[in-house]
Amino acid sequence: MISVIGANKNFGDFAALDNLSLDIPSGSLTALLGPSGSGKSTLLRSIAGLENPDSGTITIAGKDVTGVPPQKRDIGFVFQHYAAFKHMTVRDNVAFGLKIRKRPKNEITKKVNDLLEIVGLDGFQHRYPAQLSGGQRQRMALARALAVDPQVLLLDEPFGALDAKVREDLRTWLRRLHDEVHVTTVLVTHDQAEALDVADRIAVLNKGRIEQVGTPRDLYDRPANNFVMSFLGPVA
Ligand code: ADP
Ligand code: MG
Repeated sequence: MISVIGANKNFGDFAALDNLSLDIPSGSLTALLGPSGSGKSTLLRSIAGLENPDSGTITIAGKDVTGVPPQKRDIGFVFQHYAAFKHMTVRDNVAFGLKIRKRPKNEITKKVNDLLEIVGLDGFQHRYPAQLSGGQRQRMALARALAVDPQVLLLDEPFGALDAKVREDLRTWLRRLHDEVHVTTVLVTHDQAEALDVADRIAVLNKGRIEQVGTPRDLYDRPANNFVMSFLGPVA
């Protein structure tokens, strides 16, 4: 679904992406896992079109998206600090993308109801974002990103600002959402346990390069090198 071929991105003389290539299969939930500064966000932002690599090619669903702006890529995005529309209810936040696309009212109602049920917010339609917990807000963000049926869902440390218990809870919601909606999902995280728990594929990044790509089992049982072994080793 997504192919990154030979991507380079320099900030000054620092290589954030160093001739990086990666294929992300359709329908997978792939984690980009690595220490802080390894290039995870730069890679995700390049897939989103928020950053332009200096060289290399990125294709989404077979289409070269080089130079295509984010709003013309078929993607949904959730960041760590999600900007909800404060003056809109949960329902209207999730419906927003459908309304600007002028979808029929009954279609919007059904879509919003279905998504809010999947993320466990069906009783919260008429609340405002300020009346939700941090975990509930991120679940609303997931529903909103998925409302317009994007081909690709991009998540950059979406649970990073929340406490450990809530983060664990959100992993379960993400897994459940992915099992129901089957959208190709890329999750950036520096949390080994999160990647091992939620992803079906993990790409381990280090210094702008991919050290290994595989299932959680592959990486855990057969780490390709010392970096992967020591990075995955001390799982709490
Ligand atoms: P990660 O998400 O893995 O923590 P990033 O992709 O955010 O890593 O950043 C990789 C490196 O590139 C970091 O060392 C960061 O300081 C640098 N970097 C990222 N964005 C910029 C920018 N806009 N300007 C300068 N340096 C940047
Ligand atoms: Mg980052």
